[in-house]
Amino acid sequence: SLPFDVAAVRADFPILETEIDGRPLVYLDSGATSQKPRVVLEAEREFLEQANSAVHRGAHTLAAEATELFEDARVTVADFVGAEPEQLVWTSGATAGLNLVAGSLGYRGDLQIREGDEIVVTEAEHHANLIPWQELAARTGARLRHIPVREDGMLDLHAAAELIGERTKVVAFPHVSNVLGIVNPVAKLVTLARGVGALTVLDACQSAPHLRLDLPASGVDLAVFSGHKVYGPYGIGALWGRDEVLEALPPFTTGGSMITTVTLDRAEYLPPPQRFEPGTQPVSQAVALAAAVRWLGEHDLDAAHAHEAALEKRLREGLRSIDGIRLLGDTDAAERVALQAFEVQGVHAHDVGQFLDARGVAVRVGHHCAQPLHRRFGMTASVRASAAIHTTEDEIDTLLDAVSGVRGFFGVGAAA
Ligand code: PMP
Repeated sequence: SLPFDVAAVRADFPILETEIDGRPLVYLDSGATSQKPRVVLEAEREFLEQANSAVHRGAHTLAAEATELFEDARVTVADFVGAEPEQLVWTSGATAGLNLVAGSLGYRGDLQIREGDEIVVTEAEHHANLIPWQELAARTGARLRHIPVREDGMLDLHAAAELIGERTKVVAFPHVSNVLGIVNPVAKLVTLARGVGALTVLDACQSAPHLRLDLPASGVDLAVFSGHKVYGPYGIGALWGRDEVLEALPPFTTGGSMITTVTLDRAEYLPPPQRFEPGTQPVSQAVALAAAVRWLGEHDLDAAHAHEAALEKRLREGLRSIDGIRLLGDTDAAERVALQAFEVQGVHAHDVGQFLDARGVAVRVGHHCAQPLHRRFGMTASVRASAAIHTTEDEIDTLLDAVSGVRGFFGVGAAA
């Protein structure tokens, strides 16, 4: 009934043919890592078989070809987020990108964080967008503050308006929480940050696979995402930054391929993005990530988004209708992606995970690298189901059927 050919999409993913103990795999863990379409695997292999060599160096034909493919990949991936290639720095993933930003801000330059400055994050951070800021605060004497999450999962914007003030130098936040699935109000947070001249850093890990991104238009100054969550390979991600912000950041890690002149005493650096890309780069992964976003872009994205929105509704409303289920971030007011964490009351998340696995359903259990957020909801672990472009309504129903049986199986609740 959906204006979207999910069967054709599924046929692109070899792994979706997998059976778990004789049952078809129902992969609802794309929030942790996405599966990869065949064209992505082929792009990486083809590069390695036909063009592999060191980029930006050798005078030989293969090196020129590899360099061209690598830099074309940058153009493609930059375009995926509405940006120019010079604004896109390759990283090994979002974690590396966030450490790069927090690291560069820590030691010199016009944007240097100093004692007495304030860094604002949210209570809904993945640890990757929290711990680098904790370390930066510890190194510099800055103060780390956080925007609280309300009971319904939304950020407390009144608190944000009070917190973000003259001392605030950085406001870092997730576009979409990897636990709540809620799309945060980027424009409002950017307005608050800009009002006090603070930099904004967007963790776009969980939005990049699901929403159309235009990072320059979003108003943020810097943003990161991971390749392996947007149908691309491991070991590659990107940091995007405004020209003037990247220009103002000193290098974080240093080494070969990022310099103009080096003497025994000092080095002069290339402009961004090369300034932030020391050492041998993940070339085949960049090429394959470009193939991934090209593959994604071949689809009718409006239809794909409508498909995912229908999955989101089915998932959330279905879970909500099951006795003894508590959703993390239970609100209809927010824009969302098809990702939902929940608790089956009386049953440990790990037991739920095993129960679902025995039915072929793959979900994530634990704290999802968001301990403070779980603590805020008075729990230590939850179950998280997350869909992708290839997920079907039947798969959501398989999950819901299975979840309906959990409490009975473990002898918990009224029916037991
Ligand atoms: N931020 C968010 C919101 C995430 O979901 C993740 C991945 N779980 C990360 C950051 C870290 O990404 P990576 O592990 O790919 O570096």
